[in-house]
Amino acid sequence: MDAALFGVDGFPAGVCFGASWARTPVEQHGHLSVSGHRIIDARGRAVSLAGLSLFWSNSGWGGDAFYNVETVRWARDDWGAQVIRAAMGVEGDGGYLEDRSNEAKVEAVVRAAVHAGVYVIIDWHSHHAEEHQAEAVDFFVRMARKFGHLPNVIYEVYNEPLGGVSWSSTVKPYAERVVDAIREVDPDNLVVVGSPTWSQDVDVASEDPIVGRANVAYSLHFYAETHRAPLRAKALAALQNGAPLFVTEWGTVNAWARGSVAERSVAEWMDFLAEHKISHCNWSLNDRDEAASALRPGADPRGEWPSSALTTSGQLVKRILTGWRGRCPPGMAPA
Ligand code: MG
Repeated sequence: MDAALFGVDGFPAGVCFGASWARTPVEQHGHLSVSGHRIIDARGRAVSLAGLSLFWSNSGWGGDAFYNVETVRWARDDWGAQVIRAAMGVEGDGGYLEDRSNEAKVEAVVRAAVHAGVYVIIDWHSHHAEEHQAEAVDFFVRMARKFGHLPNVIYEVYNEPLGGVSWSSTVKPYAERVVDAIREVDPDNLVVVGSPTWSQDVDVASEDPIVGRANVAYSLHFYAETHRAPLRAKALAALQNGAPLFVTEWGTVNAWARGSVAERSVAEWMDFLAEHKISHCNWSLNDRDEAASALRPGADPRGEWPSSALTTSGQLVKRILTGWRGRCPPGMAPA
């Protein structure tokens, strides 16, 4: 797949990918959209994609070393990743608000994903997005102009609103404003919206959903050691209320990215995601010294990781991802 065919300029020519994919995920599924409470592919089949989230892009935090084409290519070929999330840090040291180079890091991942034929989430990785709505609108309009014609691209307009924030009077109006701005440029690519309590209150959002705008889904975040059946009950309530869900971020450990890998809880969650055809990205593809990282400290930031470079979490996540297409093939068209 030649990125130039998609009008993405500036991509280095002559990059050769492995031949392990007869067809890339995007060639297989094409443009994603929402139908009822499902996300469907271009053939109308309910689809569950498995993938990886990169770490915050903030300059100086270390995770941005993995924002490159070699990492994306390796994640696809060796881990079976169908979707990559570029988590653009907004606030904090080295975040987008004080360092606009974060945008170029995201663009590098988008171009890599286009070249690799995987989906890519452009994530406004913020806990206070309503405080910077104008900046979010400006950023996403620019992304939509550059990339909105590509089937690869998914917009995530608010990573995790905090606990105690109102869905109806704060998060929803923010999201509607950003979605409307995107839609003026790009009429159709999938948009994912967070909900209060670190994107756990999908049931609350589903009771007062965003209406009149095409292809909007809601992000659900869980960390397997902390979140179990009660959060799945909230997710099920949201689905029953007609809200499509996308797990843009999940962890094998606790919600503070620490603790131990909760293997049994992870298995219960994966059963749930497969049953309901929900896509998911693991937090995170990074080598920071914390339990949630997929890679051990010092792992090569340009892929080609031997199994000795993977953490306990990374080994489990790789097993899940490499088996996902066989375990959760595209479903029949939803009723
Ligand atoms: Mg589009």
